[in-house]
Amino acid sequence: MTDGQRSRWARYRDRKRGGPPRQLDPHGSLGAVRRHQRASEDLCDECAPVWSDHKHAAYLRRKGVSEEEIEDRLRARAAARVQ
Ligand SMILES: [Zn+2]
Repeated sequence: MTDGQRSRWARYRDRKRGGPPRQLDPHGSLGAVRRHQRASEDLCDECAPVWSDHKHAAYLRRKGVSEEEIEDRLRARAAARVQ
């Protein structure tokens, strides 16, 4: 491939997927949790609580708890973790 072809291909690729390469989600986000899981890694200290909250929220939703109540409970969990 010549350089001209390479850059044309890069432009095509970027257009096709809607933009230049993405910035990875930072640790402490669900995206980073998924990354750990895909790589079969243990979750780091920032990602573990995010995943725990995500699972807990899913559990509460299954129990029919309202979104407002779930938010309150997650806030309480976050506050408890800070201490
Ligand atoms: Zn992490």
